Amino acid sequence: MTLENTAPEEIQSLLKPLEGESFAFACHPGVPCFTECCRDLKLLLTPYDVLRLKKSLALDASDFHEAHTRTEFDEQRGFPMVFLEMREDARKTCPFVSEKGCRVYGDRPAACRTYPIARATRMHRSHDRVQEDYYVLEEEHCRGFQEKQRWTVEEWIKDQGLDHYHEMNNQWMEIITHPRLNQGKRLSPQQQQMFFLACYDLDKFRRFISSGRFLQIFELDEKEVKAVESGDEDLLKLSFKWIRFSFCGDPVLKMREKTQNGQ
Ligand code: SF4
Ligand code: SF4
Repeated sequence: MTLENTAPEEIQSLLKPLEGESFAFACHPGVPCFTECCRDLKLLLTPYDVLRLKKSLALDASDFHEAHTRTEFDEQRGFPMVFLEMREDARKTCPFVSEKGCRVYGDRPAACRTYPIARATRMHRSHDRVQEDYYVLEEEHCRGFQEKQRWTVEEWIKDQGLDHYHEMNNQWMEIITHPRLNQGKRLSPQQQQMFFLACYDLDKFRRFISSGRFLQIFELDEKEVKAVESGDEDLLKLSFKWIRFSFCGDPVLKMREKTQNGQ
C-alpha cells in the first residue's frame, strides 16, 4: 500500500479513516498557522510532480534535481525515490515557500494538494485498476480544522486539481507495485540509471531516445512520435510504457517486425 502524503511515520496515528464523511477545513492567508506546514518535510516527489515543478521554474530536469532534490534508493528493489530538498536553515524550510504562500502553487506537488487528507492506494491487478482509501490527517498545529467550510473527499480532489495528478501518478504506481519488480530482485546500477532517466529526467530521456534506435525499434502512434520531439506529459506516458515493457515484461509497446527478426 502506498500512502501518498508527507506524513512521517511518527504521526501515522493521527490518520483517521474517511468513509463517506465530510471534514471541516480551510487554508488561506488568514489562518494563524499560514505556511507553518511548509517546513521540515520528507516530501516524496512523483515523476509527474518533477515534470510540473521543473516546468514551473523553467528549469531543465537535471538543473532542477541539482538545485532541489535528493535521491534515495529503495533498499530492497533499488528504485530511485526522489525527495524535495528542504533549505539548510534552522527550520528546514521548503525552498518554494514565501511570506505570501507557495511560489509554485499552480504546480505544487500532489502531497501538498492532498493535505489534509491522505490517499492510500493499492493496485488491484485482476481488475487492472488502482484501489484507494482516504484518511484525514489532523495535525495539532494545523488551525485549518477550526474553519467552518466542509468538504467531501470528492469535492476536495476537484478543488485541488488532483484528478489529473492521480491519473498520472497511478501509471507510476502500476510500475512500482508491479509483481515482476517486487520479487526480491534488485535493479542493476544500469537499470537504476535508466529508471531514473525515464521517470525523473525527461530532457535527457528525450535526447536518449531521439539519438538512438528507439524510433526504429518500436512502432509508436502519432501522439507518441510527436512526444519524442516535444510535449512532456505524453513523453512521460511513453516513458512509463517503456519501463513496463523493458523491466516488467508487459506487452505495452510493439516492436517493428524487422527488429524482432534481428534485421
Ligand atoms: S498548517 Fe494547515 S491551515 Fe496552516 S497553512 Fe498549513 S495546511 Fe494551511
Ligand atoms: S511546495 Fe509549496 S505547498 Fe508544498 S511544501 Fe513547498 S511551499 Fe508548501
